[in-house]
Parts: sequence; C-alpha cells; structure tokens
Amino acid sequence: MNDFEIEIALDIDEEGMALVECPECIKEFKTPSTTINNDETIICSHCKQELLYFNFTKKDRDRIQRIATEQAMGYATDRLNRTIKKINRQLK
Ligand SMILES: [Zn+2]
Repeated sequence: MNDFEIEIALDIDEEGMALVECPECIKEFKTPSTTINNDETIICSHCKQELLYFNFTKKDRDRIQRIATEQAMGYATDRLNRTIKKINRQLK
C-alpha cells in the first residue's frame, strides 16, 4: 500500500496564539504559534510544566479525524476506481 500524507494547520487566532492541550493536566491553554513552529519549549499556563510536546485539543482532534477520514476515503475510492478501470481494460 502506498503512503499518503495529510497536512493540517492548527487554528491561530489574530494575536498569533494557538490553542493546545497540556498532556500533564489535560487543560487547554494558548501558546504563541512561534513556539510550536520553532520547536521551542512550551510552558503550560495552568500547571507551569515545561512540555516537550503538546496534545491537540478535543476540537482539533475531531477536526483532524474528520479530514483524515475524508482524505482516506477519497484515496481509497480513487485507488478502487483505477483498479476497476485496469481490470476492465484487461477484460477487453
Ligand atoms: Zn498543564
């Protein structure tokens, strides 16, 4: 099976802040999007933990899952259609 990539951008507000979820206290907090883009340490505004990674918020996880499902379905449908066309050509 071939791989396919999905690129999904986080929502950034007008102040350049991204809403993420702390993996330690599971609370949502805002962090400057530059800290994410530059792989800088993110500090949770609730528990003050220095985070090596963050979780997507529930809303973003739902959105990512929806987009991934749509793209996977599109990909699978495309592959299936190509295979059917190929079989039809071979049967002629
Ligand atoms: Zn936290």
